[in-house]
Amino acid sequence: MNRSILSETPKVESYPAAAQLQVSAVVPIYNEVESLPILVETIANTFKNNAIPYEIICVDDGSTDGSTDLLRQMAHQRSDLRAVLLRRNYGQTPAMAAGFNHARGNVIVTLDGDLQNDPADIPRLIAKLDEGYDLVSGWRKDRQDAVVTRLIPSRMANWLIRKVTEVRIHDYGCSLKAYRAELVRDMNLYGELHRFLPALAFIEGARIAELPVRHHARRYGYSKYGLGRTFRVLMDLATIFFMKKFLTRPMHVFGLFGLVSMLIGLGLALYLCFLKLGLGMAIGDRPLLSLAVVLFLTGVQLFSFGLLAELSMRTYHESQNRPIYRVREVVESGEAADA
Ligand code: UDP
Ligand code: MG
Repeated sequence: MNRSILSETPKVESYPAAAQLQVSAVVPIYNEVESLPILVETIANTFKNNAIPYEIICVDDGSTDGSTDLLRQMAHQRSDLRAVLLRRNYGQTPAMAAGFNHARGNVIVTLDGDLQNDPADIPRLIAKLDEGYDLVSGWRKDRQDAVVTRLIPSRMANWLIRKVTEVRIHDYGCSLKAYRAELVRDMNLYGELHRFLPALAFIEGARIAELPVRHHARRYGYSKYGLGRTFRVLMDLATIFFMKKFLTRPMHVFGLFGLVSMLIGLGLALYLCFLKLGLGMAIGDRPLLSLAVVLFLTGVQLFSFGLLAELSMRTYHESQNRPIYRVREVVESGEAADA
């Protein structure tokens, strides 16, 4: 059955620097036992047909349907497959992070383990990456998922993410992507941030491209997500928004709002003092008094929160030796040095 997919595998003729590229395919696996054999075989054949050096890393995310044993057995038999078996079910983001950490290639390709992505698209993604991009993201132009629970929420999410992150691609949810490995190593993943990898990459200054890819309906097993993920995506989006804008300068946002709030509170309080002391009016039952107090206290809190955020931001960068910038390349005469 996978033969039919393979026969359509487009050969990328002008594949330039195949010799230097080592591709690691990273696949998170959670209860995908029926898909596994076809999946690994198809990925392997795609790479072989295009003469691309590769390895496949399947991360078992605490499956309970026998995927774990099958994966262990397959990894024993195949030299091109490494299985990373997690102790329990952590979720797709940690599974992908585990795969990234075990990948040895200089290009990383991610795809879902349910055969919804088509491995035959991988060579095109890699060829695009080789044109000088750091990340090439798949775009499921003709997506095969349920309309109400998947397509509509995803439409809205994509619109919102595009507005917030300013990364101009159509489809953020597509798992089929190709990365330069050093880019992935610069990104730390938390929550369900795998969906925002393009946005995170953009924060890291990556060059991003998008390519339409095929998408198939799920053949085996069931989707691990429902409508519940909408809320989690929104919260992750809020994090991304903050990181993109203020990661290295939290005081600019909290300090500003704090100061404005404090000043308005102070102004109102002075006005009330004038009424009380200057004109002898009673101010005890005025709502304005409560407003003045609330604004002033909120202002003080926001301001001190900003200072704390500054401190933890510094700890974040300095404890990991994370510079606040990313160098693409250093150019000098004589021996060219890569950053
Ligand atoms: N997955 C995982 N851990 C989880 C949930 C999902 O590793 O806790 C994997 C799953 O096996 C699949 C991929 O993440 O390879 C995407 O999941 P799914 O196909 O259910 O998502 P959908 O395509 O429906 O968005
Ligand atoms: Mg899927």
